[in-house]
Amino acid sequence: MLLNARIVDARYPVKGFIVYLENGRKVIESVQRILEGKLEADGHRPMTFPIVATEENFSKEAEHIKGFHGEVFRFRIPSDEDGRELIVRPTSETIIYPMFSIWIKSHADLPFKVHQSCQVYRYETKATRPLYRVREVLWNEAHTAHVDERDAEAQFLRAVEIYKEVLDDLAISYVILKRPDFDKFAGAVYSVAFDAWNPDGRVNQVATVHNLGENFSRVFEITYETKEGGRRYVWQLCYGLGYSRVLAAIIAQHGDDLGPIFPPRVAPIQIVVVPIPYKGVEESVYSYAREIAESLGGRFRTLIDDRRDTTPGEKFYHWERQGVPLRIEIGPREVENSTITLTRRDSGERIKVERESAVQKIDEILLDIQDNLRKKSMNVMRDMVIDVRSMDELIDGISRRKICRVNWCGLIECAMEIKSRVAGEIRGYNFEMVDEPFSNCIACSGDPVYVVYVARAY
Ligand SMILES: [Zn+2]
Repeated sequence: MLLNARIVDARYPVKGFIVYLENGRKVIESVQRILEGKLEADGHRPMTFPIVATEENFSKEAEHIKGFHGEVFRFRIPSDEDGRELIVRPTSETIIYPMFSIWIKSHADLPFKVHQSCQVYRYETKATRPLYRVREVLWNEAHTAHVDERDAEAQFLRAVEIYKEVLDDLAISYVILKRPDFDKFAGAVYSVAFDAWNPDGRVNQVATVHNLGENFSRVFEITYETKEGGRRYVWQLCYGLGYSRVLAAIIAQHGDDLGPIFPPRVAPIQIVVVPIPYKGVEESVYSYAREIAESLGGRFRTLIDDRRDTTPGEKFYHWERQGVPLRIEIGPREVENSTITLTRRDSGERIKVERESAVQKIDEILLDIQDNLRKKSMNVMRDMVIDVRSMDELIDGISRRKICRVNWCGLIECAMEIKSRVAGEIRGYNFEMVDEPFSNCIACSGDPVYVVYVARAY
């Protein structure tokens, strides 16, 4: 499907590395544009940092290095006399923060916010899977430094808000979960993740936001002069959104048996125009179809498929599989009546429209498709999340591809037991509101502390 829909080609001869084809690439570019626009409106400066870290810098923060142990690619520059190894970034804290310590001098420099869209590399040891588990990940990462915890906390909420807006634009449904302590980002005080649903019941982590506290500023010596003249460590955040995983979520949440249905907001092609010529009136059909395509082209991403050696039916099938949300058919009747016939990819509904009102009508329909995809996705998610009160119910729920809400006492032993009993794990608890416990701890029957979400994950 990914290949037929021209999203990725996974046949590249190095395991875990894939080629992004035109549709995959175009969707990622649109997502990138939306995200970067919002980050920069919020004061993040775009930058490009090197792909390599020194071993010395990479090893500075103890928890961080432990967290990425065994996952990093290393290489050596043959002519380097010290023979030192360089680390290929699995993420860029240890590349960006040495520069922060040079740049940040005074309270007037804060807050300091940067972002970059780039590739990061992680040696996934589990089975790789295109877009979900790859060793080269396309993402955007943002890094911020603040005068104190309070300012950082306010930025944390803004970061969550930015990611919500981006995912909402893509009609993706998700839960925002605060990770349990044992599963937070290596080096973070706490972490929040956006888990999107997948039809197979596994959650797909598409974005994360981390509060780093002073953990990195202390080891990288990022300090500033306060208004009163003293020196203080900055308080830091980092957050990332995975383009590869977001693309996976778009395909998984909005696709059907035929292939993907791209939300109009990011669809590489929003409208395909297909002429349906009849004997004797071929040329008037083709020329009217071209006129229509040209008149819509300035406003919508429009393509006319006027190949003469392919039947209209073959073209319909072809563009449906490419995820194009709207098709326009032009036959002799449309030419005669000065109309167009639209077919929605999401519902199959056919709509006749007068030529004069085409732009306005298409605008409405594309918005409605976007809205419909969002509602459908939210409905699936609502059905997928269930409350369970016992280990048996949990085992049953996970096997039925559900995301289960359970009560957990907070003990690591109970978390481990849950993990060993089901092929899923505690993903975290609701970040935006406190859920009321509805039973005792599912593992030890002790008093509940948290309502947590348990699911299988990529
Ligand atoms: Zn327990």
